[in-house]
Amino acid sequence: PTEEYENLRRRIYSNTKELYYYVEHELGKFMQEENKEERLQVILDQVSDRKRSLLSDQQRLQEVDGYHEWRIAEAANVSDLIQRRLKHLQNPPDCKEARKVICNLNKGCGFGCQLHHIVYCLIFAYASERTLILNSKGWRYNNKGWEYVFHPISDTCVSAFDDKAVQWPVTYDAKVISLPFIDSMAQRPKFLPLAIPKDLAHRIVRFNGDPASWWIGQMLKYILKPKTAMQKAINDTIAKMNFKTPIVGVHIRRTDKVGTEAAFHHIQEYMAHVKDYYDQLDMSRSTDAVRRVYLATDDANVLEDARAKYPDYTFLGDASIAKTAATHRRYTPLSLTGLLVDLHMLSMCDYLVCTFSSQVGRVAYEMMQANRVDASDSFFSLDDIYYFGGQNAHDRVAVMDNAGTNQDVVFLVGDMIGIAGNHWNGYGRGTNKRTNVNGLIPWYKTADHLVLYPFPEYKHVPL
Ligand code: GDP
Repeated sequence: PTEEYENLRRRIYSNTKELYYYVEHELGKFMQEENKEERLQVILDQVSDRKRSLLSDQQRLQEVDGYHEWRIAEAANVSDLIQRRLKHLQNPPDCKEARKVICNLNKGCGFGCQLHHIVYCLIFAYASERTLILNSKGWRYNNKGWEYVFHPISDTCVSAFDDKAVQWPVTYDAKVISLPFIDSMAQRPKFLPLAIPKDLAHRIVRFNGDPASWWIGQMLKYILKPKTAMQKAINDTIAKMNFKTPIVGVHIRRTDKVGTEAAFHHIQEYMAHVKDYYDQLDMSRSTDAVRRVYLATDDANVLEDARAKYPDYTFLGDASIAKTAATHRRYTPLSLTGLLVDLHMLSMCDYLVCTFSSQVGRVAYEMMQANRVDASDSFFSLDDIYYFGGQNAHDRVAVMDNAGTNQDVVFLVGDMIGIAGNHWNGYGRGTNKRTNVNGLIPWYKTADHLVLYPFPEYKHVPL
C-alpha cells in the first residue's frame, strides 16, 4: 500500500474514536446544562461535520488504494461480456429454429414501469437461453411500436413466425413461451431479481457495492438505445442546459403518486441531502464553488419554487418537460422525449436524491449504476430502499448477534431477515425468518444477502 493509503486508513480509525469521545463528553455535559436546545444544535452540527470528514476520507481511500484503474477496467470488461452475451442471445444463427420468449409491451403503466417489464423479460430470456421477442404494436408511447423510437432489441430475429406461444407457467419444454406481468407470475423462478448470475457475481462484488441493481442496469444498457431522431431531440434539449459537474440530481415525483403510492415530500427534505453532499464535497475542494442541481419532476411548479427558495443553488431543468409530464399529457411521444432527457441527466449526476417508491427514481439509479463503476454510495432515497417491482424475497443476513433489549428483534449470526424497509434512523423493519418475529432491526448488525443463481454461462460467446 502507498503511504497516503496507510495514513488515511489510520486517520479514519483514529477519527472514528474522536467522534465518539466528542459525543460522549458533550452529552455528559449536556445533561447538566441550561439552554438545552441551543447546545443540542451545536452538538448535532459538530457531529455532522465529523461524519462528513470521515466519509470524505473513506471516499479518498478508494481512490488511492491502488485499485482505482483496475476497478474501472474490470467493470468495463464484465459489462462488455454481458452485452456480448445478450447480443448473441438476441441474434441466433437460425431465428426460425430458435427457442423464444414473448413479451407484450401492453402494460398499462408509466415508462419506468414498462422498462422494468422489458428488463424482467430479458432476464427470463437470458436465464432460459431464449431469444426475446418484444411485441409492441399499439404501444402507448408510439402506436407503431418500440422500434420506431428505440433500436430493436434484435437485429435479426423479431418474430416467432407461426409457432404457437404457450403461456407461462409451462408444463413441458415449449419452443415459444409467452410471459405474464411479473406481479401476477405463478411458479416464480429463482432467477428473478434481485438474483444475479453466479458465474459473474464474484467479479461484480469486487467493484460494485450493489450488484443486483448493477445487473438490472446492464439490462437497461442493452435495451435503451434511442434511434437517431430521438437521440437528436434528446441531445438538442441537453445542449441548451449547460450541464457541468459537480452536480446533484433531484427527482421529485408528485401528481398522481402522492397519497396513493407514496407520501408527499417537501423540497426541503430533498435539499437537506443536496446540502449534505456539497458540504462533504467542500472538504476536498475550494469552498465557494457553484452548487448545481438538476431537477427532474412531474410537478410543473417545483422548479420555480426551488429557485425562489434556494438562491444559493443553480438549478438546471426544463419547466416545459415538467409541464408535459403532468398527468394528462403523460403518455404522449413528446412526454417520452422529456422523460428520456430527465433520466439521462439524472443518471449523469454525481449524486441522486429521490424516492425509490418511483420507478423513474429507480431507473435513474440503475442507469447511474450502468454508466459508472459503482454508484451504490451515490444516492439517497427519501422513502424505500432499492427494489425491483415484483422481485423475490429480499433478505439481509445477521453478521452479529442481537440480544433484543429494546423493541428490536432477537437474532443470531447467520439468521435471515426478510426486509420491509429502512427507517434511516439506525433501524430498519424486518422479520427474522427463523423465529418469525417482526420488529426493529439494528441495520449495522446485518448485511445484504446476495442471491446467486446459476444462470447459463454462455461459454461459446468469446471472452
Ligand atoms: P412511477 O409511477 O413514478 O413509479 O413511475 P412510472 O414511470 O411507472 O410512471 C410515472 C410517469 O410519470 C413517467 O413515466 C413519466 O411519464 C412521468 N414522470 C414522473 N417523474 C417524471 C420526471 O421527473 N420527469 C418527466 N419528464 N416525467 C416524469
